[in-house]
Order: sequence, then C-alpha cells, then structure tokens
Amino acid sequence: MPVRTRLIAGNWKMNRTAMETEQFLGRFDAEMGKAELLICMPFTDLYLAEKYLAGTGIKWGAQNVYPAEKGAFTGEISPGMLKETGCSYVICGHSERRQILCESDEFVGKKVKIVLAYGMTPILCVGETLEERESGQMKTRLLEEMRAALSGLSPEELLRTVIAYEPVWAIGTGKAATAQDAETVSAFIRKTIEAFSSGGVAERIRILYGGSVTGENISSFLREKDVDGALIGGASLKAEELLSIYKKACE
Ligand code: PEP
Repeated sequence: MPVRTRLIAGNWKMNRTAMETEQFLGRFDAEMGKAELLICMPFTDLYLAEKYLAGTGIKWGAQNVYPAEKGAFTGEISPGMLKETGCSYVICGHSERRQILCESDEFVGKKVKIVLAYGMTPILCVGETLEERESGQMKTRLLEEMRAALSGLSPEELLRTVIAYEPVWAIGTGKAATAQDAETVSAFIRKTIEAFSSGGVAERIRILYGGSVTGENISSFLREKDVDGALIGGASLKAEELLSIYKKACE
C-alpha cells in the first residue's frame, strides 16, 4: 500500500471569468482513479465549482487567503469565505505572490496556519530563483521558507499540509526542472521535515513538483520516489492535457 496518495493540482492563476469557467466545467468529465484531482481557481469561480464538481470526486481550491478571520482588509478574502464554498485546499506563498505582491515568509506562514485552523489543506509553495540556485543559496532559501511556514505545527497539522517545490525559474517558462532535480530537492524537503518533526511525518507528508509540467513530462517526475504529484499552471487550463496528466498519476 502506498503511504501517500498522489495529488494532481491545477492552478488556473488569473484566468477564466465565471462564464468561461461555467463552459469549462460543464464539459469537464474526469473518471476518478486512485490519485486526487484538484483545481485551484479564481475566487469568483468557486461557487461554480461547488455547483459542477460536488459529488464528482474532483476537488477545488483557492489560490490565496488573507490570514485573519474578518475585518478591515479591503479586497481580501477570509478563510471562512473560502470554507463556505466547499474549498478543501488553499495555495499559500506561490512565488508570483511572493515576488509581485511582496509577500514575506512570515506572512505566508500565517496563511498556512489559518488554513489549517479552518480545516482546509494548505499547499505551501517553496522554491529558489535562478540567482539563488546559481549562487549556492538554494537550500538556505528553501529552509527559510519552510521554517517560517512550518515550524510550530503539530505532527497532525504537518500531515495535513502539502508542500509544492516550485523552482521560480521553471514556472511558466517551459523550462521544467529535470526529474532528478525535482527528486533531489524533494528528498531534501523530506529530510528537513524529519528534522522539524519525525521520520514518520516526513515519510507521509506529500511533496509536489511544479514548474512547466505537461502531459509529456509528468511521468518522469512521478517515477521519482519523493515526488507525490504536481502543481500545474499552464497545462491545467487545457482539459485534455489535465486529464491525461491525471490519468498518468493514477497508473
Ligand atoms: C504554477 O503556477 O504553479 C506553475 C507551476 O505554472 P506552470 O505549470 O505554468 O509552470
């Protein structure tokens, strides 16, 4: 029995209006297998996810959350609002938000904690820039991101968290990391979790690879022993490609 269920998670980013999503979901038909399938969509689409995906086995999630229950945070969205739409996952600390919206490691950490407190699963994104990789700072950067978000979590909370290794240089560039690179870093992340918590937790926590994953290259990542699935941007917008990736994850 595999200890970890594979997860194929789409990240639509800022794509699709509600009307476009309704057209997509109205025709989207996935045969559920042993892996999990998740689509993280814009906030304005989440009510449609519930309408079209409830009961299908396909899960839906959000791409962000504000780390407070409610209050004067104009333009933000609360965990309770997400929970009410039936969201089960929330992406925290995507590199686009860290870079474009200047989100700090500490702020991302608060998001992870509030998502857990509301009974949803955070997908914590970590990853190095090309500059950090080339200057030998990759592990330091990953450790900083993980420490800020994960330290202080109980074993049970860690097990409800998913970590996505997303090298910034591979996101949306068409230049995916090699499967070997993804494995080396995923193994490092698992070792780090062991140091934060225990070998048992490290063995069971799920680690995804993200960065230019396609129907063509997904199998190479899934063959690696520490990679438990993928976080997928561009390719998740195409129904056929997303389904073919999911099918491969179920093999
Ligand atoms: C992402 O958005 O997390 C991502 C990995 O994008 P892409 O698959 O397009 O590189």
